[in-house]
Amino acid sequence: MGLLEGKRILVTGVLTDASLGFSVARVAQEQGAEIVLTGAGRGLSLTERVARKLPTPPPVLELDVTQPEHVEAVRADLGDRWGAVDGALHAIGFAPPACLGGDFMAATWDDVSIALQVSAYSLKTLAEVVTPLMGRGGSIVGLDFDATVAWPAYDWMGVAKAALESTARYLARELGRDGIRVNLVAAGPTKTMAARSIPGFAAFEDAWSGRAPLGWDVRDPEPTARACVALLSDWFPATTGEIVHVDGGYHAIGA
Ligand code: NAP
Repeated sequence: MGLLEGKRILVTGVLTDASLGFSVARVAQEQGAEIVLTGAGRGLSLTERVARKLPTPPPVLELDVTQPEHVEAVRADLGDRWGAVDGALHAIGFAPPACLGGDFMAATWDDVSIALQVSAYSLKTLAEVVTPLMGRGGSIVGLDFDATVAWPAYDWMGVAKAALESTARYLARELGRDGIRVNLVAAGPTKTMAARSIPGFAAFEDAWSGRAPLGWDVRDPEPTARACVALLSDWFPATTGEIVHVDGGYHAIGA
């Protein structure tokens, strides 16, 4: 029996078959889950196309986390379709170009506010979609990039990830009473569309495999996907507000 047998999981952030969300969706289906994908804006048609590459092509709903009417429409659809939801994956990140690339002073508040809304506040937005449907408890999992230190080029996206980490802890505090767990997976660098849009990303990609005790393959999203699926399953019943590092051990090594 699969880890997610009988579970109904909402998966965001599937833009291409390289997206971390795509691998989570695939492994979740392999482990028995029924899934629905969401896509946003101009990427929605890409999500619809790439959905056909999954073992069982799932339905795709429109969810731009900056559009309150999408939140209500997706919740209503899932309510009609499933009645109850067991889990959700947050794989959403965006920052305007001025927020990334090594000139930390260049971004304006208008730029930064978009990065924070789409990449951090949106965890709460996703919780608004699914928690009214989690009457039997549930698991929300988000994708993080370790925000305890400053990285080359990551700039305001790093600040947004620090906000995501804090938001996950506060949501864990808020939702625990309803049996809903909120955890993050801090993944090592992986070649996706979002990663490609960060000028200078290659600098820490190269450093990673040398320092990580287990090594690290920037082209392999499978370890990250498996950790997300484990956290979505019933096998972490007493874990919430946690950040699980899936980075080959890089975070534990000083030099
Ligand atoms: P990706 O394939 O580019 O996925 C990013 C997703 O965010 C896209 O599907 C994108 O959809 C979506 N998104 C952007 N703005 C949105 C909005 N307003 N509403 C809803 N969705 C929106 O890249 P990825 O690397 O898999 O990223 C997934 C998550 O993993 C992100 O949180 C990222 O920070 C995190 N992460 C990535 C790495 C890495 O090295 N790749 C490492 C650690 C953590 P549209 O483009 O259609 O808007």
